[in-house]
Amino acid sequence: MSKKIYEKPIIRKQQSGLMNKFGSPQISRAVTAIDGISIEKLTEQFGSPLFVFSEKQIRENYRKLKRIFKTRYPKVRFAWSYKTNYLSSICSVYHQEGSWAEVVSEFEYDKARNLGVAGENIIFNGPDKTEAALEKAIKEKALLHIDHFDELYSIKEITQHLNLKARVAIRVNMDTGIYPPWNRFGFNYENGEAMLALKRIIHEENLELVGLHTHIGTYIMSAEPYRQAVLKLVDLAKALYDQYEVRLEYIDVGGGLPSFNTLKGQYLEAEQILPTYEDYAEAITSPLFDLNLPTDELPTLVLETGRALIDDTGYLITSVIATKRLSTGKQSIIIDAGVNYLFTSHWFNHKILPTKEISGFTENTIVYGPLCMNIDVIREDVVLPPMHKGDKLVIFYVGAYSVTQWMQFITLRPNVVLISEEGDVDVIREAEQLEDITAREKLPERLKEFTPDG
Ligand SMILES: *Cc1c(COP(=O)(O)O)cnc(C)c1O
Repeated sequence: MSKKIYEKPIIRKQQSGLMNKFGSPQISRAVTAIDGISIEKLTEQFGSPLFVFSEKQIRENYRKLKRIFKTRYPKVRFAWSYKTNYLSSICSVYHQEGSWAEVVSEFEYDKARNLGVAGENIIFNGPDKTEAALEKAIKEKALLHIDHFDELYSIKEITQHLNLKARVAIRVNMDTGIYPPWNRFGFNYENGEAMLALKRIIHEENLELVGLHTHIGTYIMSAEPYRQAVLKLVDLAKALYDQYEVRLEYIDVGGGLPSFNTLKGQYLEAEQILPTYEDYAEAITSPLFDLNLPTDELPTLVLETGRALIDDTGYLITSVIATKRLSTGKQSIIIDAGVNYLFTSHWFNHKILPTKEISGFTENTIVYGPLCMNIDVIREDVVLPPMHKGDKLVIFYVGAYSVTQWMQFITLRPNVVLISEEGDVDVIREAEQLEDITAREKLPERLKEFTPDG
Protein backbone atom coordinates (compact mmCIF):
# COMPACT_ATOMS: atom_id res chain seq x y z
CA MET A 1 0.00 0.00 0.00
CA SER A 2 1.38 3.41 -0.91
CA LYS A 3 1.83 5.88 1.87
CA LYS A 4 -0.86 8.54 2.01
CA ILE A 5 0.21 12.13 1.55
CA TYR A 6 -0.28 14.32 4.59
CA GLU A 7 -3.22 16.64 4.33
CA LYS A 8 -3.79 19.58 6.61
CA PRO A 9 -6.87 18.91 8.72
CA ILE A 10 -9.79 21.28 8.38
CA ILE A 11 -12.53 22.00 10.84
CA ARG A 12 -15.96 21.57 9.38
CA LYS A 13 -18.51 23.70 11.12
CA GLN A 14 -21.91 22.18 11.82
CA GLN A 15 -24.28 24.53 10.06
CA SER A 16 -27.64 25.37 11.47
CA GLY A 17 -29.05 27.69 8.85
CA LEU A 18 -32.66 28.70 8.82
CA MET A 19 -35.10 25.94 9.45
CA ASN A 20 -38.07 25.41 7.25
CA LYS A 21 -40.88 22.93 7.80
CA PHE A 22 -38.73 20.12 6.37
CA GLY A 23 -35.72 20.78 8.54
CA SER A 24 -32.47 22.61 7.97
CA PRO A 25 -30.90 23.12 4.55
CA GLN A 26 -28.40 20.60 3.27
CA ILE A 27 -24.80 21.24 4.09
CA SER A 28 -22.72 21.55 0.98
CA ARG A 29 -19.69 19.32 0.74
CA ALA A 30 -16.89 19.60 -1.75
CA VAL A 31 -16.33 17.46 -4.82
CA THR A 32 -12.65 17.25 -5.69
CA ALA A 33 -12.58 14.65 -8.45
CA ILE A 34 -14.74 12.93 -11.04
CA ASP A 35 -14.09 9.21 -11.44
CA GLY A 36 -10.83 9.70 -9.61
CA ILE A 37 -9.57 12.43 -11.94
CA SER A 38 -9.00 15.66 -10.04
CA ILE A 39 -11.03 18.67 -11.12
CA GLU A 40 -7.86 20.76 -10.91
CA LYS A 41 -6.12 18.51 -13.43
CA LEU A 42 -9.13 18.44 -15.74
CA THR A 43 -9.40 22.21 -15.96
CA GLU A 44 -5.64 22.66 -16.24
CA GLN A 45 -5.65 20.44 -19.28
CA PHE A 46 -8.99 21.20 -20.91
CA GLY A 47 -9.95 24.64 -19.61
CA SER A 48 -13.01 26.02 -17.88
CA PRO A 49 -15.90 25.72 -18.36
CA LEU A 50 -15.73 22.03 -19.17
CA PHE A 51 -18.33 19.33 -19.72
CA VAL A 52 -17.22 15.98 -18.32
CA PHE A 53 -18.91 12.62 -18.92
CA SER A 54 -18.23 9.37 -17.11
CA GLU A 55 -18.22 6.32 -19.37
CA LYS A 56 -18.18 4.08 -16.32
CA GLN A 57 -21.36 5.64 -14.99
CA ILE A 58 -23.06 5.49 -18.40
CA ARG A 59 -22.40 1.76 -18.68
CA GLU A 60 -23.33 1.11 -15.06
CA ASN A 61 -26.61 3.00 -15.30
CA TYR A 62 -27.49 1.15 -18.49
CA ARG A 63 -26.72 -2.30 -17.11
CA LYS A 64 -28.55 -1.56 -13.91
CA LEU A 65 -31.72 -0.34 -15.60
CA LYS A 66 -31.62 -3.15 -18.13
CA ARG A 67 -31.37 -5.66 -15.33
CA ILE A 68 -34.31 -4.09 -13.49
CA PHE A 69 -36.50 -4.64 -16.55
CA LYS A 70 -34.98 -7.96 -17.67
CA THR A 71 -35.60 -9.57 -14.33
CA ARG A 72 -39.29 -8.70 -14.65
CA TYR A 73 -39.95 -9.36 -18.33
CA PRO A 74 -38.16 -11.79 -20.67
CA LYS A 75 -37.68 -9.60 -23.77
CA VAL A 76 -36.32 -6.10 -23.31
CA ARG A 77 -34.64 -3.76 -25.76
CA PHE A 78 -33.41 -0.22 -25.22
CA ALA A 79 -33.23 2.35 -28.01
CA TRP A 80 -31.03 5.33 -27.26
CA SER A 81 -32.93 8.62 -27.52
CA TYR A 82 -30.63 10.71 -29.70
CA LYS A 83 -32.15 14.06 -28.85
CA THR A 84 -31.34 13.52 -25.17
CA ASN A 85 -27.63 13.48 -26.02
CA TYR A 86 -26.34 12.85 -29.53
CA LEU A 87 -22.64 13.34 -29.10
CA SER A 88 -21.16 10.56 -31.23
CA SER A 89 -19.11 9.06 -28.41
CA ILE A 90 -22.08 8.97 -26.05
CA CYS A 91 -24.33 7.27 -28.63
CA SER A 92 -21.56 4.79 -29.41
CA VAL A 93 -21.27 3.71 -25.78
CA TYR A 94 -25.00 2.87 -25.82
CA HIS A 95 -24.68 1.05 -29.14
CA GLN A 96 -21.79 -0.98 -27.72
CA GLU A 97 -24.08 -1.91 -24.84
CA GLY A 98 -26.67 -3.18 -27.31
CA SER A 99 -28.97 -0.21 -27.65
CA TRP A 100 -30.79 0.60 -30.85
CA ALA A 101 -31.13 4.22 -31.95
CA GLU A 102 -34.30 6.27 -31.45
CA VAL A 103 -34.33 9.34 -33.67
CA VAL A 104 -36.79 12.18 -34.29
CA SER A 105 -35.31 13.88 -37.36
CA GLU A 106 -33.49 13.06 -40.57
CA PHE A 107 -30.32 14.61 -39.20
CA GLU A 108 -30.43 12.26 -36.21
CA TYR A 109 -31.26 9.36 -38.50
CA ASP A 110 -28.20 10.08 -40.64
CA LYS A 111 -26.08 10.44 -37.52
CA ALA A 112 -27.11 6.99 -36.33
CA ARG A 113 -26.38 5.49 -39.76
CA ASN A 114 -22.96 7.17 -39.82
CA LEU A 115 -22.19 5.65 -36.44
CA GLY A 116 -22.86 2.24 -37.94
CA VAL A 117 -26.39 1.51 -36.72
CA ALA A 118 -28.27 -0.63 -39.25
CA GLY A 119 -31.50 0.87 -40.56
CA GLU A 120 -33.51 -1.98 -39.09
CA ASN A 121 -32.22 -1.03 -35.64
CA ILE A 122 -33.37 2.57 -35.90
CA ILE A 123 -36.71 3.72 -34.55
CA PHE A 124 -37.84 6.77 -36.45
CA ASN A 125 -40.21 8.90 -34.35
CA GLY A 126 -41.58 12.41 -34.59
CA PRO A 127 -44.19 14.36 -36.54
CA ASP A 128 -41.78 15.71 -39.17
CA LYS A 129 -40.36 13.06 -41.45
CA THR A 130 -39.80 14.44 -44.94
CA GLU A 131 -40.66 12.36 -48.00
CA ALA A 132 -36.95 12.01 -48.72
CA ALA A 133 -36.27 10.84 -45.19
CA LEU A 134 -39.16 8.36 -45.34
CA GLU A 135 -37.92 6.99 -48.65
CA LYS A 136 -34.44 6.43 -47.25
CA ALA A 137 -35.78 4.89 -44.04
CA ILE A 138 -38.11 2.53 -45.94
CA LYS A 139 -35.29 1.36 -48.20
CA GLU A 140 -33.13 0.73 -45.14
CA LYS A 141 -35.93 -1.11 -43.29
CA ALA A 142 -36.08 1.30 -40.37
CA LEU A 143 -38.97 1.15 -37.93
CA LEU A 144 -41.35 3.99 -38.75
CA HIS A 145 -43.50 5.19 -35.89
CA ILE A 146 -46.37 6.97 -37.57
CA ASP A 147 -47.51 10.19 -35.93
CA HIS A 148 -50.56 11.27 -38.00
CA PHE A 149 -52.76 10.23 -40.90
CA ASP A 150 -50.94 12.47 -43.38
CA GLU A 151 -47.78 10.55 -42.66
CA LEU A 152 -49.60 7.22 -42.99
CA TYR A 153 -50.81 8.24 -46.46
CA SER A 154 -47.33 9.43 -47.49
CA ILE A 155 -45.77 6.15 -46.40
CA LYS A 156 -48.42 4.23 -48.29
CA GLU A 157 -47.71 6.20 -51.47
CA ILE A 158 -43.94 5.91 -51.15
CA THR A 159 -44.05 2.15 -50.57
CA GLN A 160 -46.30 1.70 -53.59
CA HIS A 161 -44.01 3.85 -55.68
CA LEU A 162 -40.89 1.97 -54.54
CA ASN A 163 -42.66 -1.36 -54.51
CA LEU A 164 -41.29 -2.01 -51.04
CA LYS A 165 -42.80 -2.96 -47.72
CA ALA A 166 -42.46 -0.60 -44.76
CA ARG A 167 -42.20 -1.80 -41.15
CA VAL A 168 -44.46 0.47 -39.17
CA ALA A 169 -45.91 1.13 -35.73
CA ILE A 170 -48.17 3.91 -34.58
CA ARG A 171 -47.63 6.30 -31.75
CA VAL A 172 -50.61 6.26 -29.44
CA ASN A 173 -51.59 9.02 -27.02
CA MET A 174 -54.00 8.39 -24.20
CA ASP A 175 -55.31 9.62 -20.89
CA THR A 176 -52.84 8.37 -18.30
CA GLY A 177 -53.88 10.73 -15.56
CA ILE A 178 -51.21 13.29 -16.49
CA TYR A 179 -52.50 16.77 -17.20
CA PRO A 180 -52.25 18.36 -19.61
CA PRO A 181 -52.01 15.16 -21.68
CA TRP A 182 -49.52 15.02 -24.54
CA ASN A 183 -52.28 14.54 -27.10
CA ARG A 184 -50.54 16.35 -29.94
CA PHE A 185 -48.39 13.34 -30.82
CA GLY A 186 -49.75 10.20 -32.40
CA PHE A 187 -53.28 8.80 -32.50
CA ASN A 188 -55.69 9.00 -29.62
CA TYR A 189 -56.73 5.83 -27.84
CA GLU A 190 -59.96 6.94 -26.20
CA ASN A 191 -61.65 8.41 -29.26
CA GLY A 192 -60.96 5.36 -31.41
CA GLU A 193 -58.49 7.09 -33.71
CA ALA A 194 -55.68 4.71 -32.81
CA MET A 195 -57.74 1.64 -33.68
CA LEU A 196 -58.84 3.27 -36.93
CA ALA A 197 -55.22 3.94 -37.91
CA LEU A 198 -54.31 0.34 -37.07
CA LYS A 199 -57.13 -0.99 -39.24
CA ARG A 200 -56.01 1.17 -42.15
CA ILE A 201 -52.49 -0.19 -41.80
CA ILE A 202 -53.60 -3.81 -41.58
CA HIS A 203 -55.48 -3.46 -44.84
CA GLU A 204 -52.47 -2.06 -46.70
CA GLU A 205 -50.40 -4.61 -48.51
CA ASN A 206 -47.19 -2.60 -48.37
CA LEU A 207 -47.38 -1.85 -44.66
CA GLU A 208 -46.27 -4.37 -42.08
CA LEU A 209 -47.56 -3.55 -38.61
CA VAL A 210 -44.81 -4.53 -36.19
CA GLY A 211 -45.43 -2.54 -33.02
CA LEU A 212 -47.25 -0.05 -30.85
CA HIS A 213 -45.58 3.01 -29.40
CA THR A 214 -46.26 5.69 -26.83
CA HIS A 215 -44.20 8.33 -25.09
CA ILE A 216 -46.32 9.85 -22.36
CA GLY A 217 -44.07 12.74 -21.37
CA THR A 218 -40.75 13.46 -19.75
CA TYR A 219 -39.70 13.43 -16.09
CA ILE A 220 -42.82 11.48 -15.12
CA MET A 221 -42.87 11.57 -11.34
CA SER A 222 -45.14 8.60 -10.71
CA ALA A 223 -45.24 5.03 -11.99
CA GLU A 224 -49.03 4.85 -12.30
CA PRO A 225 -49.32 6.73 -15.64
CA TYR A 226 -47.06 4.09 -17.19
CA ARG A 227 -49.32 1.31 -15.95
CA GLN A 228 -52.30 3.11 -17.49
CA ALA A 229 -50.44 3.57 -20.77
CA VAL A 230 -49.35 -0.05 -21.02
CA LEU A 231 -52.83 -1.30 -20.10
CA LYS A 232 -54.23 0.67 -23.03
CA LEU A 233 -51.55 -0.53 -25.43
CA VAL A 234 -52.17 -4.09 -24.30
CA ASP A 235 -55.85 -3.56 -24.96
CA LEU A 236 -55.06 -2.50 -28.53
CA ALA A 237 -52.66 -5.38 -28.97
CA LYS A 238 -55.32 -7.86 -27.79
CA ALA A 239 -57.81 -6.47 -30.30
CA LEU A 240 -55.20 -6.91 -33.02
CA TYR A 241 -54.51 -10.51 -31.98
CA ASP A 242 -58.17 -11.42 -31.56
CA GLN A 243 -59.70 -9.69 -34.56
CA TYR A 244 -56.90 -9.77 -37.12
CA GLU A 245 -54.44 -12.38 -35.89
CA VAL A 246 -51.74 -9.74 -36.04
CA ARG A 247 -48.67 -10.62 -33.98
CA LEU A 248 -46.78 -7.59 -32.77
CA GLU A 249 -43.00 -7.75 -32.54
CA TYR A 250 -42.83 -5.10 -29.86
CA ILE A 251 -44.55 -2.68 -27.53
CA ASP A 252 -42.57 0.51 -27.08
CA VAL A 253 -43.33 2.61 -24.01
CA GLY A 254 -41.01 5.49 -24.92
CA GLY A 255 -38.90 7.40 -22.41
CA GLY A 256 -39.81 9.81 -19.65
CA LEU A 257 -38.33 8.18 -16.54
CA PRO A 258 -37.03 10.93 -14.27
CA SER A 259 -33.43 11.44 -13.29
CA PHE A 260 -32.67 12.60 -9.78
CA ASN A 261 -32.13 16.18 -10.87
CA THR A 262 -34.49 18.35 -8.84
CA LEU A 263 -37.28 20.27 -10.55
CA LYS A 264 -37.77 23.94 -9.75
CA GLY A 265 -40.53 24.54 -7.26
CA GLN A 266 -39.90 21.15 -5.70
CA TYR A 267 -39.17 21.56 -2.04
CA LEU A 268 -37.52 18.26 -1.34
CA GLU A 269 -34.62 16.79 -3.26
CA ALA A 270 -35.65 14.49 -6.10
CA GLU A 271 -34.20 11.41 -4.36
CA GLN A 272 -36.60 11.91 -1.49
CA ILE A 273 -39.81 12.02 -3.48
CA LEU A 274 -39.44 9.99 -6.67
CA PRO A 275 -40.42 6.33 -6.96
CA THR A 276 -37.61 3.86 -7.62
CA TYR A 277 -36.87 2.53 -11.10
CA GLU A 278 -38.06 -0.84 -9.80
CA ASP A 279 -41.47 0.74 -9.19
CA TYR A 280 -41.58 1.99 -12.77
CA ALA A 281 -40.46 -1.37 -14.16
CA GLU A 282 -43.14 -3.11 -12.15
CA ALA A 283 -45.85 -0.79 -13.49
CA ILE A 284 -44.64 -1.14 -17.07
CA THR A 285 -44.06 -4.89 -17.21
CA SER A 286 -46.99 -6.29 -15.16
CA PRO A 287 -49.77 -5.40 -17.62
CA LEU A 288 -47.83 -7.04 -20.49
CA PHE A 289 -48.55 -10.46 -18.99
CA ASP A 290 -52.27 -9.76 -19.46
CA LEU A 291 -51.65 -10.55 -23.12
CA ASN A 292 -51.74 -14.19 -21.98
CA LEU A 293 -49.19 -15.28 -24.55
CA PRO A 294 -46.52 -17.96 -24.35
CA THR A 295 -43.04 -16.54 -23.78
CA ASP A 296 -41.86 -16.93 -27.36
CA GLU A 297 -44.87 -14.99 -28.61
CA LEU A 298 -44.66 -12.12 -26.14
CA PRO A 299 -43.80 -8.82 -27.79
CA THR A 300 -40.42 -7.29 -26.97
CA LEU A 301 -40.66 -4.42 -24.53
CA VAL A 302 -38.85 -1.45 -26.07
CA LEU A 303 -37.70 1.43 -23.88
CA GLU A 304 -36.52 4.75 -25.25
CA THR A 305 -35.17 5.94 -21.93
CA GLY A 306 -33.00 9.03 -22.29
CA ARG A 307 -32.81 11.32 -19.28
CA ALA A 308 -32.76 8.63 -16.58
CA LEU A 309 -29.77 6.88 -18.16
CA ILE A 310 -27.55 9.84 -18.94
CA ASP A 311 -28.35 12.77 -16.65
CA ASP A 312 -26.15 11.90 -13.68
CA THR A 313 -23.20 10.91 -15.90
CA GLY A 314 -22.56 14.50 -17.01
CA TYR A 315 -20.89 17.30 -15.04
CA LEU A 316 -20.16 20.91 -15.88
CA ILE A 317 -17.05 22.33 -14.26
CA THR A 318 -17.13 26.09 -14.06
CA SER A 319 -15.07 28.90 -12.48
CA VAL A 320 -16.04 31.92 -10.48
CA ILE A 321 -15.41 35.11 -12.47
CA ALA A 322 -16.46 37.52 -9.73
CA THR A 323 -18.45 37.81 -6.56
CA LYS A 324 -20.85 40.63 -5.88
CA ARG A 325 -22.99 41.64 -2.92
CA LEU A 326 -26.28 42.78 -4.44
CA SER A 327 -28.03 45.99 -3.41
CA THR A 328 -30.51 43.81 -1.50
CA GLY A 329 -27.68 42.41 0.59
CA LYS A 330 -27.83 39.01 -1.07
CA GLN A 331 -24.60 37.32 -2.04
CA SER A 332 -24.10 36.59 -5.74
CA ILE A 333 -21.42 35.00 -7.86
CA ILE A 334 -20.82 35.21 -11.59
CA ILE A 335 -19.55 31.99 -13.18
CA ASP A 336 -18.15 31.29 -16.64
CA ALA A 337 -21.02 29.02 -17.73
CA GLY A 338 -24.37 30.54 -18.64
CA VAL A 339 -27.83 29.37 -19.59
CA ASN A 340 -26.57 29.13 -23.16
CA TYR A 341 -24.82 25.91 -22.06
CA LEU A 342 -27.44 24.91 -19.58
CA PHE A 343 -30.90 25.29 -21.03
CA THR A 344 -32.10 22.82 -18.43
CA SER A 345 -31.53 25.36 -15.65
CA HIS A 346 -34.84 26.95 -16.68
CA TRP A 347 -36.61 23.89 -15.24
CA PHE A 348 -34.21 22.34 -12.79
CA ASN A 349 -32.38 23.41 -9.66
CA HIS A 350 -29.11 21.79 -10.64
CA LYS A 351 -27.03 20.66 -7.69
CA ILE A 352 -23.87 22.76 -7.39
CA LEU A 353 -20.89 21.99 -5.20
CA PRO A 354 -17.55 23.71 -4.61
CA THR A 355 -14.40 21.75 -5.47
CA LYS A 356 -12.58 22.30 -2.21
CA GLU A 357 -13.55 22.55 1.41
CA ILE A 358 -13.93 26.22 2.21
CA SER A 359 -14.39 27.29 5.78
CA GLY A 360 -16.57 30.25 6.67
CA PHE A 361 -20.29 30.84 6.86
CA THR A 362 -22.37 29.34 4.13
CA GLU A 363 -24.88 31.68 2.63
CA ASN A 364 -27.80 31.56 0.25
CA THR A 365 -26.16 32.62 -2.98
CA ILE A 366 -27.48 33.49 -6.40
CA VAL A 367 -25.43 32.05 -9.24
CA TYR A 368 -25.29 34.13 -12.41
CA GLY A 369 -23.87 33.11 -15.77
CA PRO A 370 -21.59 35.44 -17.74
CA LEU A 371 -24.11 36.57 -20.37
CA CYS A 372 -25.30 40.17 -20.64
CA MET A 373 -28.86 39.09 -20.03
CA ASN A 374 -30.97 39.34 -16.95
CA ILE A 375 -32.32 35.81 -17.38
CA ASP A 376 -28.85 34.29 -17.19
CA VAL A 377 -29.35 32.72 -13.79
CA ILE A 378 -28.12 29.19 -13.08
CA ARG A 379 -29.47 29.01 -9.51
CA GLU A 380 -31.66 31.53 -7.70
CA ASP A 381 -30.69 30.23 -4.32
CA VAL A 382 -28.01 27.77 -3.41
CA VAL A 383 -26.22 27.35 -0.13
CA LEU A 384 -22.51 27.98 -0.74
CA PRO A 385 -19.48 28.86 1.36
CA PRO A 386 -17.75 32.18 0.58
CA MET A 387 -16.48 31.94 -2.99
CA HIS A 388 -13.64 33.85 -4.59
CA LYS A 389 -12.56 34.65 -8.11
CA GLY A 390 -10.98 31.58 -9.67
CA ASP A 391 -12.69 29.04 -7.38
CA LYS A 392 -14.21 26.11 -9.21
CA LEU A 393 -17.71 24.69 -8.92
CA VAL A 394 -19.26 21.53 -10.31
CA ILE A 395 -22.80 21.54 -11.66
CA PHE A 396 -24.49 18.12 -11.54
CA TYR A 397 -27.08 16.36 -13.69
CA VAL A 398 -26.10 17.98 -16.95
CA GLY A 399 -25.96 14.76 -19.00
CA ALA A 400 -29.47 14.98 -20.45
CA TYR A 401 -30.44 17.59 -23.00
CA SER A 402 -27.78 20.17 -22.15
CA VAL A 403 -25.35 19.23 -24.92
CA THR A 404 -28.20 19.03 -27.43
CA GLN A 405 -30.22 22.07 -26.35
CA TRP A 406 -27.22 24.31 -25.66
CA MET A 407 -26.85 27.16 -28.04
CA GLN A 408 -24.14 29.25 -29.49
CA PHE A 409 -24.95 32.63 -28.02
CA ILE A 410 -22.51 35.31 -26.89
CA THR A 411 -19.84 32.80 -25.86
CA LEU A 412 -18.40 29.79 -27.67
CA ARG A 413 -19.16 26.32 -26.39
CA PRO A 414 -16.41 24.63 -24.38
CA ASN A 415 -14.64 21.29 -24.57
CA VAL A 416 -16.52 18.11 -23.74
CA VAL A 417 -14.46 15.22 -22.38
CA LEU A 418 -15.23 11.60 -21.61
CA ILE A 419 -13.43 9.73 -18.84
CA SER A 420 -12.92 6.10 -19.83
CA GLU A 421 -13.31 3.19 -17.44
CA GLU A 422 -9.52 3.03 -17.23
CA GLY A 423 -9.29 6.71 -16.31
CA ASP A 424 -8.16 8.06 -19.70
CA VAL A 425 -9.64 11.41 -20.60
CA ASP A 426 -10.61 12.00 -24.24
CA VAL A 427 -11.94 15.16 -25.79
CA ILE A 428 -15.17 14.10 -27.49
CA ARG A 429 -16.13 17.56 -28.70
CA GLU A 430 -13.59 20.30 -29.13
CA ALA A 431 -14.19 23.80 -27.84
CA GLU A 432 -15.62 25.99 -30.58
CA GLN A 433 -13.59 28.68 -32.27
CA LEU A 434 -14.63 31.81 -34.10
CA GLU A 435 -14.17 30.02 -37.44
CA ASP A 436 -16.74 27.39 -36.49
CA ILE A 437 -19.32 30.11 -36.11
CA THR A 438 -18.41 32.12 -39.20
CA ALA A 439 -17.72 29.15 -41.50
CA ARG A 440 -21.27 29.16 -42.87
CA GLU A 441 -21.60 32.93 -43.15
CA LYS A 442 -21.35 34.78 -46.45
CA LEU A 443 -20.30 38.41 -46.61
CA PRO A 444 -21.38 40.11 -49.85
CA GLU A 445 -18.55 41.92 -51.64
CA ARG A 446 -20.16 45.35 -51.20
CA LEU A 447 -20.08 45.06 -47.40
CA LYS A 448 -16.43 44.20 -47.09
CA GLU A 449 -15.01 47.68 -46.90
CA PHE A 450 -15.79 50.60 -44.68
CA THR A 451 -14.15 53.70 -43.37
CA PRO A 452 -14.26 54.73 -39.72
CA ASP A 453 -16.81 57.54 -40.26
CA GLY A 454 -19.07 55.71 -42.65
C1 LIG B 1 -37.54 12.68 -26.04
C2 LIG B 1 -38.07 11.35 -26.32
C3 LIG B 1 -37.60 10.24 -25.60
C4 LIG B 1 -36.65 10.33 -24.43
O1 LIG B 1 -37.28 10.93 -23.36
P1 LIG B 1 -36.59 11.03 -21.90
O2 LIG B 1 -37.57 11.83 -21.12
O3 LIG B 1 -35.29 11.73 -22.09
O4 LIG B 1 -36.42 9.65 -21.38
C5 LIG B 1 -38.08 8.99 -25.96
N1 LIG B 1 -38.98 8.85 -26.96
C6 LIG B 1 -39.47 9.91 -27.66
C7 LIG B 1 -40.45 9.70 -28.74
C8 LIG B 1 -39.02 11.19 -27.35
O5 LIG B 1 -39.51 12.23 -28.03
